[in-house]
Amino acid sequence: MIMKNLLIIFLILFGSSQAFSFVILIDPGHGGKELGAVKSYSVKDSKGRQKKITVYEKNLSLRLAKYLQASLLNEFSVYLTRSFDRTVDLDDRASMADTVKADLFISIHFNSANSSEFHGFETYYLDNHKDKAIEKVESIENKDLKGEDKIINQILIDLVVGKTVNSSKKLAGLVHGNIGKNIKSFKRKDRGIKPGLFYVLALSKRPGVLIEAGFMSNPRELSKLNSDSYLKAYAKGIAQGIKEFYKTSPKREIPLF
Ligand SMILES: [Zn+2]
Repeated sequence: MIMKNLLIIFLILFGSSQAFSFVILIDPGHGGKELGAVKSYSVKDSKGRQKKITVYEKNLSLRLAKYLQASLLNEFSVYLTRSFDRTVDLDDRASMADTVKADLFISIHFNSANSSEFHGFETYYLDNHKDKAIEKVESIENKDLKGEDKIINQILIDLVVGKTVNSSKKLAGLVHGNIGKNIKSFKRKDRGIKPGLFYVLALSKRPGVLIEAGFMSNPRELSKLNSDSYLKAYAKGIAQGIKEFYKTSPKREIPLF
C-alpha cells in the first residue's frame, strides 16, 4: 500500500503537467541496482592519451526516455515509469499502465552481445516466434522479473498478443521507419522490426514497442549511442512514429481485461 501511494506521488511529481486524452507511458529500461548492460569505449583526450569511458544502459535508457518525453509533451499526456536512477520491478512498471490509463507503452533499451561485431538498431513488438537469436535478447531484457512469475505469464502473453498484435505491429513499423530517417546521418545498420516475448510489454496489456537503440557491446557504436545528438535524433524518430500512429488509428484500443 505504501509502495502504491509512493508510486502515485512519483507520477504526480514527475508526470505530465498538461491533460491530453491520449496517454503514453515511457519505460526507461533497468535502473537502480539493475544496471542493464555495462560497456566501455576509448577516446583520446586533448593530450593524445587514451581515456576509457564506461556507459551504463540504465543511464542511456533514461536519457533517451527524457528526450522522447520532451518530444511528445506538446500533444500527449506523457509519463515515465522512472524519472531518475531507481530500481523498479518489471511488474510495477507494467502496472503503472493501469494507474495512468496509458494508451501506449514504450520500453527503451540498448542491445548487448557476446561479440563486439554486432551493431545496429531494432524495434520489437509483442508476439510469439521461434527465433533463437531473438530469445537471447529476451533473456537479457526479461531478467529483472522474478522466476515464479514466468509460468503464469505465458498464459497472459497469449491473451495480450491476441488483443494487441495488430496495433503494436503497426506502431513498430511507424516508429522504426521514422527512427531510420532521423538517424540516417549516423549510418547505423537497420536490423528491422521483430516479434519478441518481452514480459514488460505483456504485463502492460497495452499496444506497445520495445526499442533496442543500438549495441553497447560494439565500442564504435557505443561512442555514437552515448552522444546527445544520437539520442535526440532517435527520440525524434520514435515521437514521429507515435504521432503518425495516433493520427491513423482509432482511439482507445486499450485491451482492458
Ligand atoms: Zn535492457
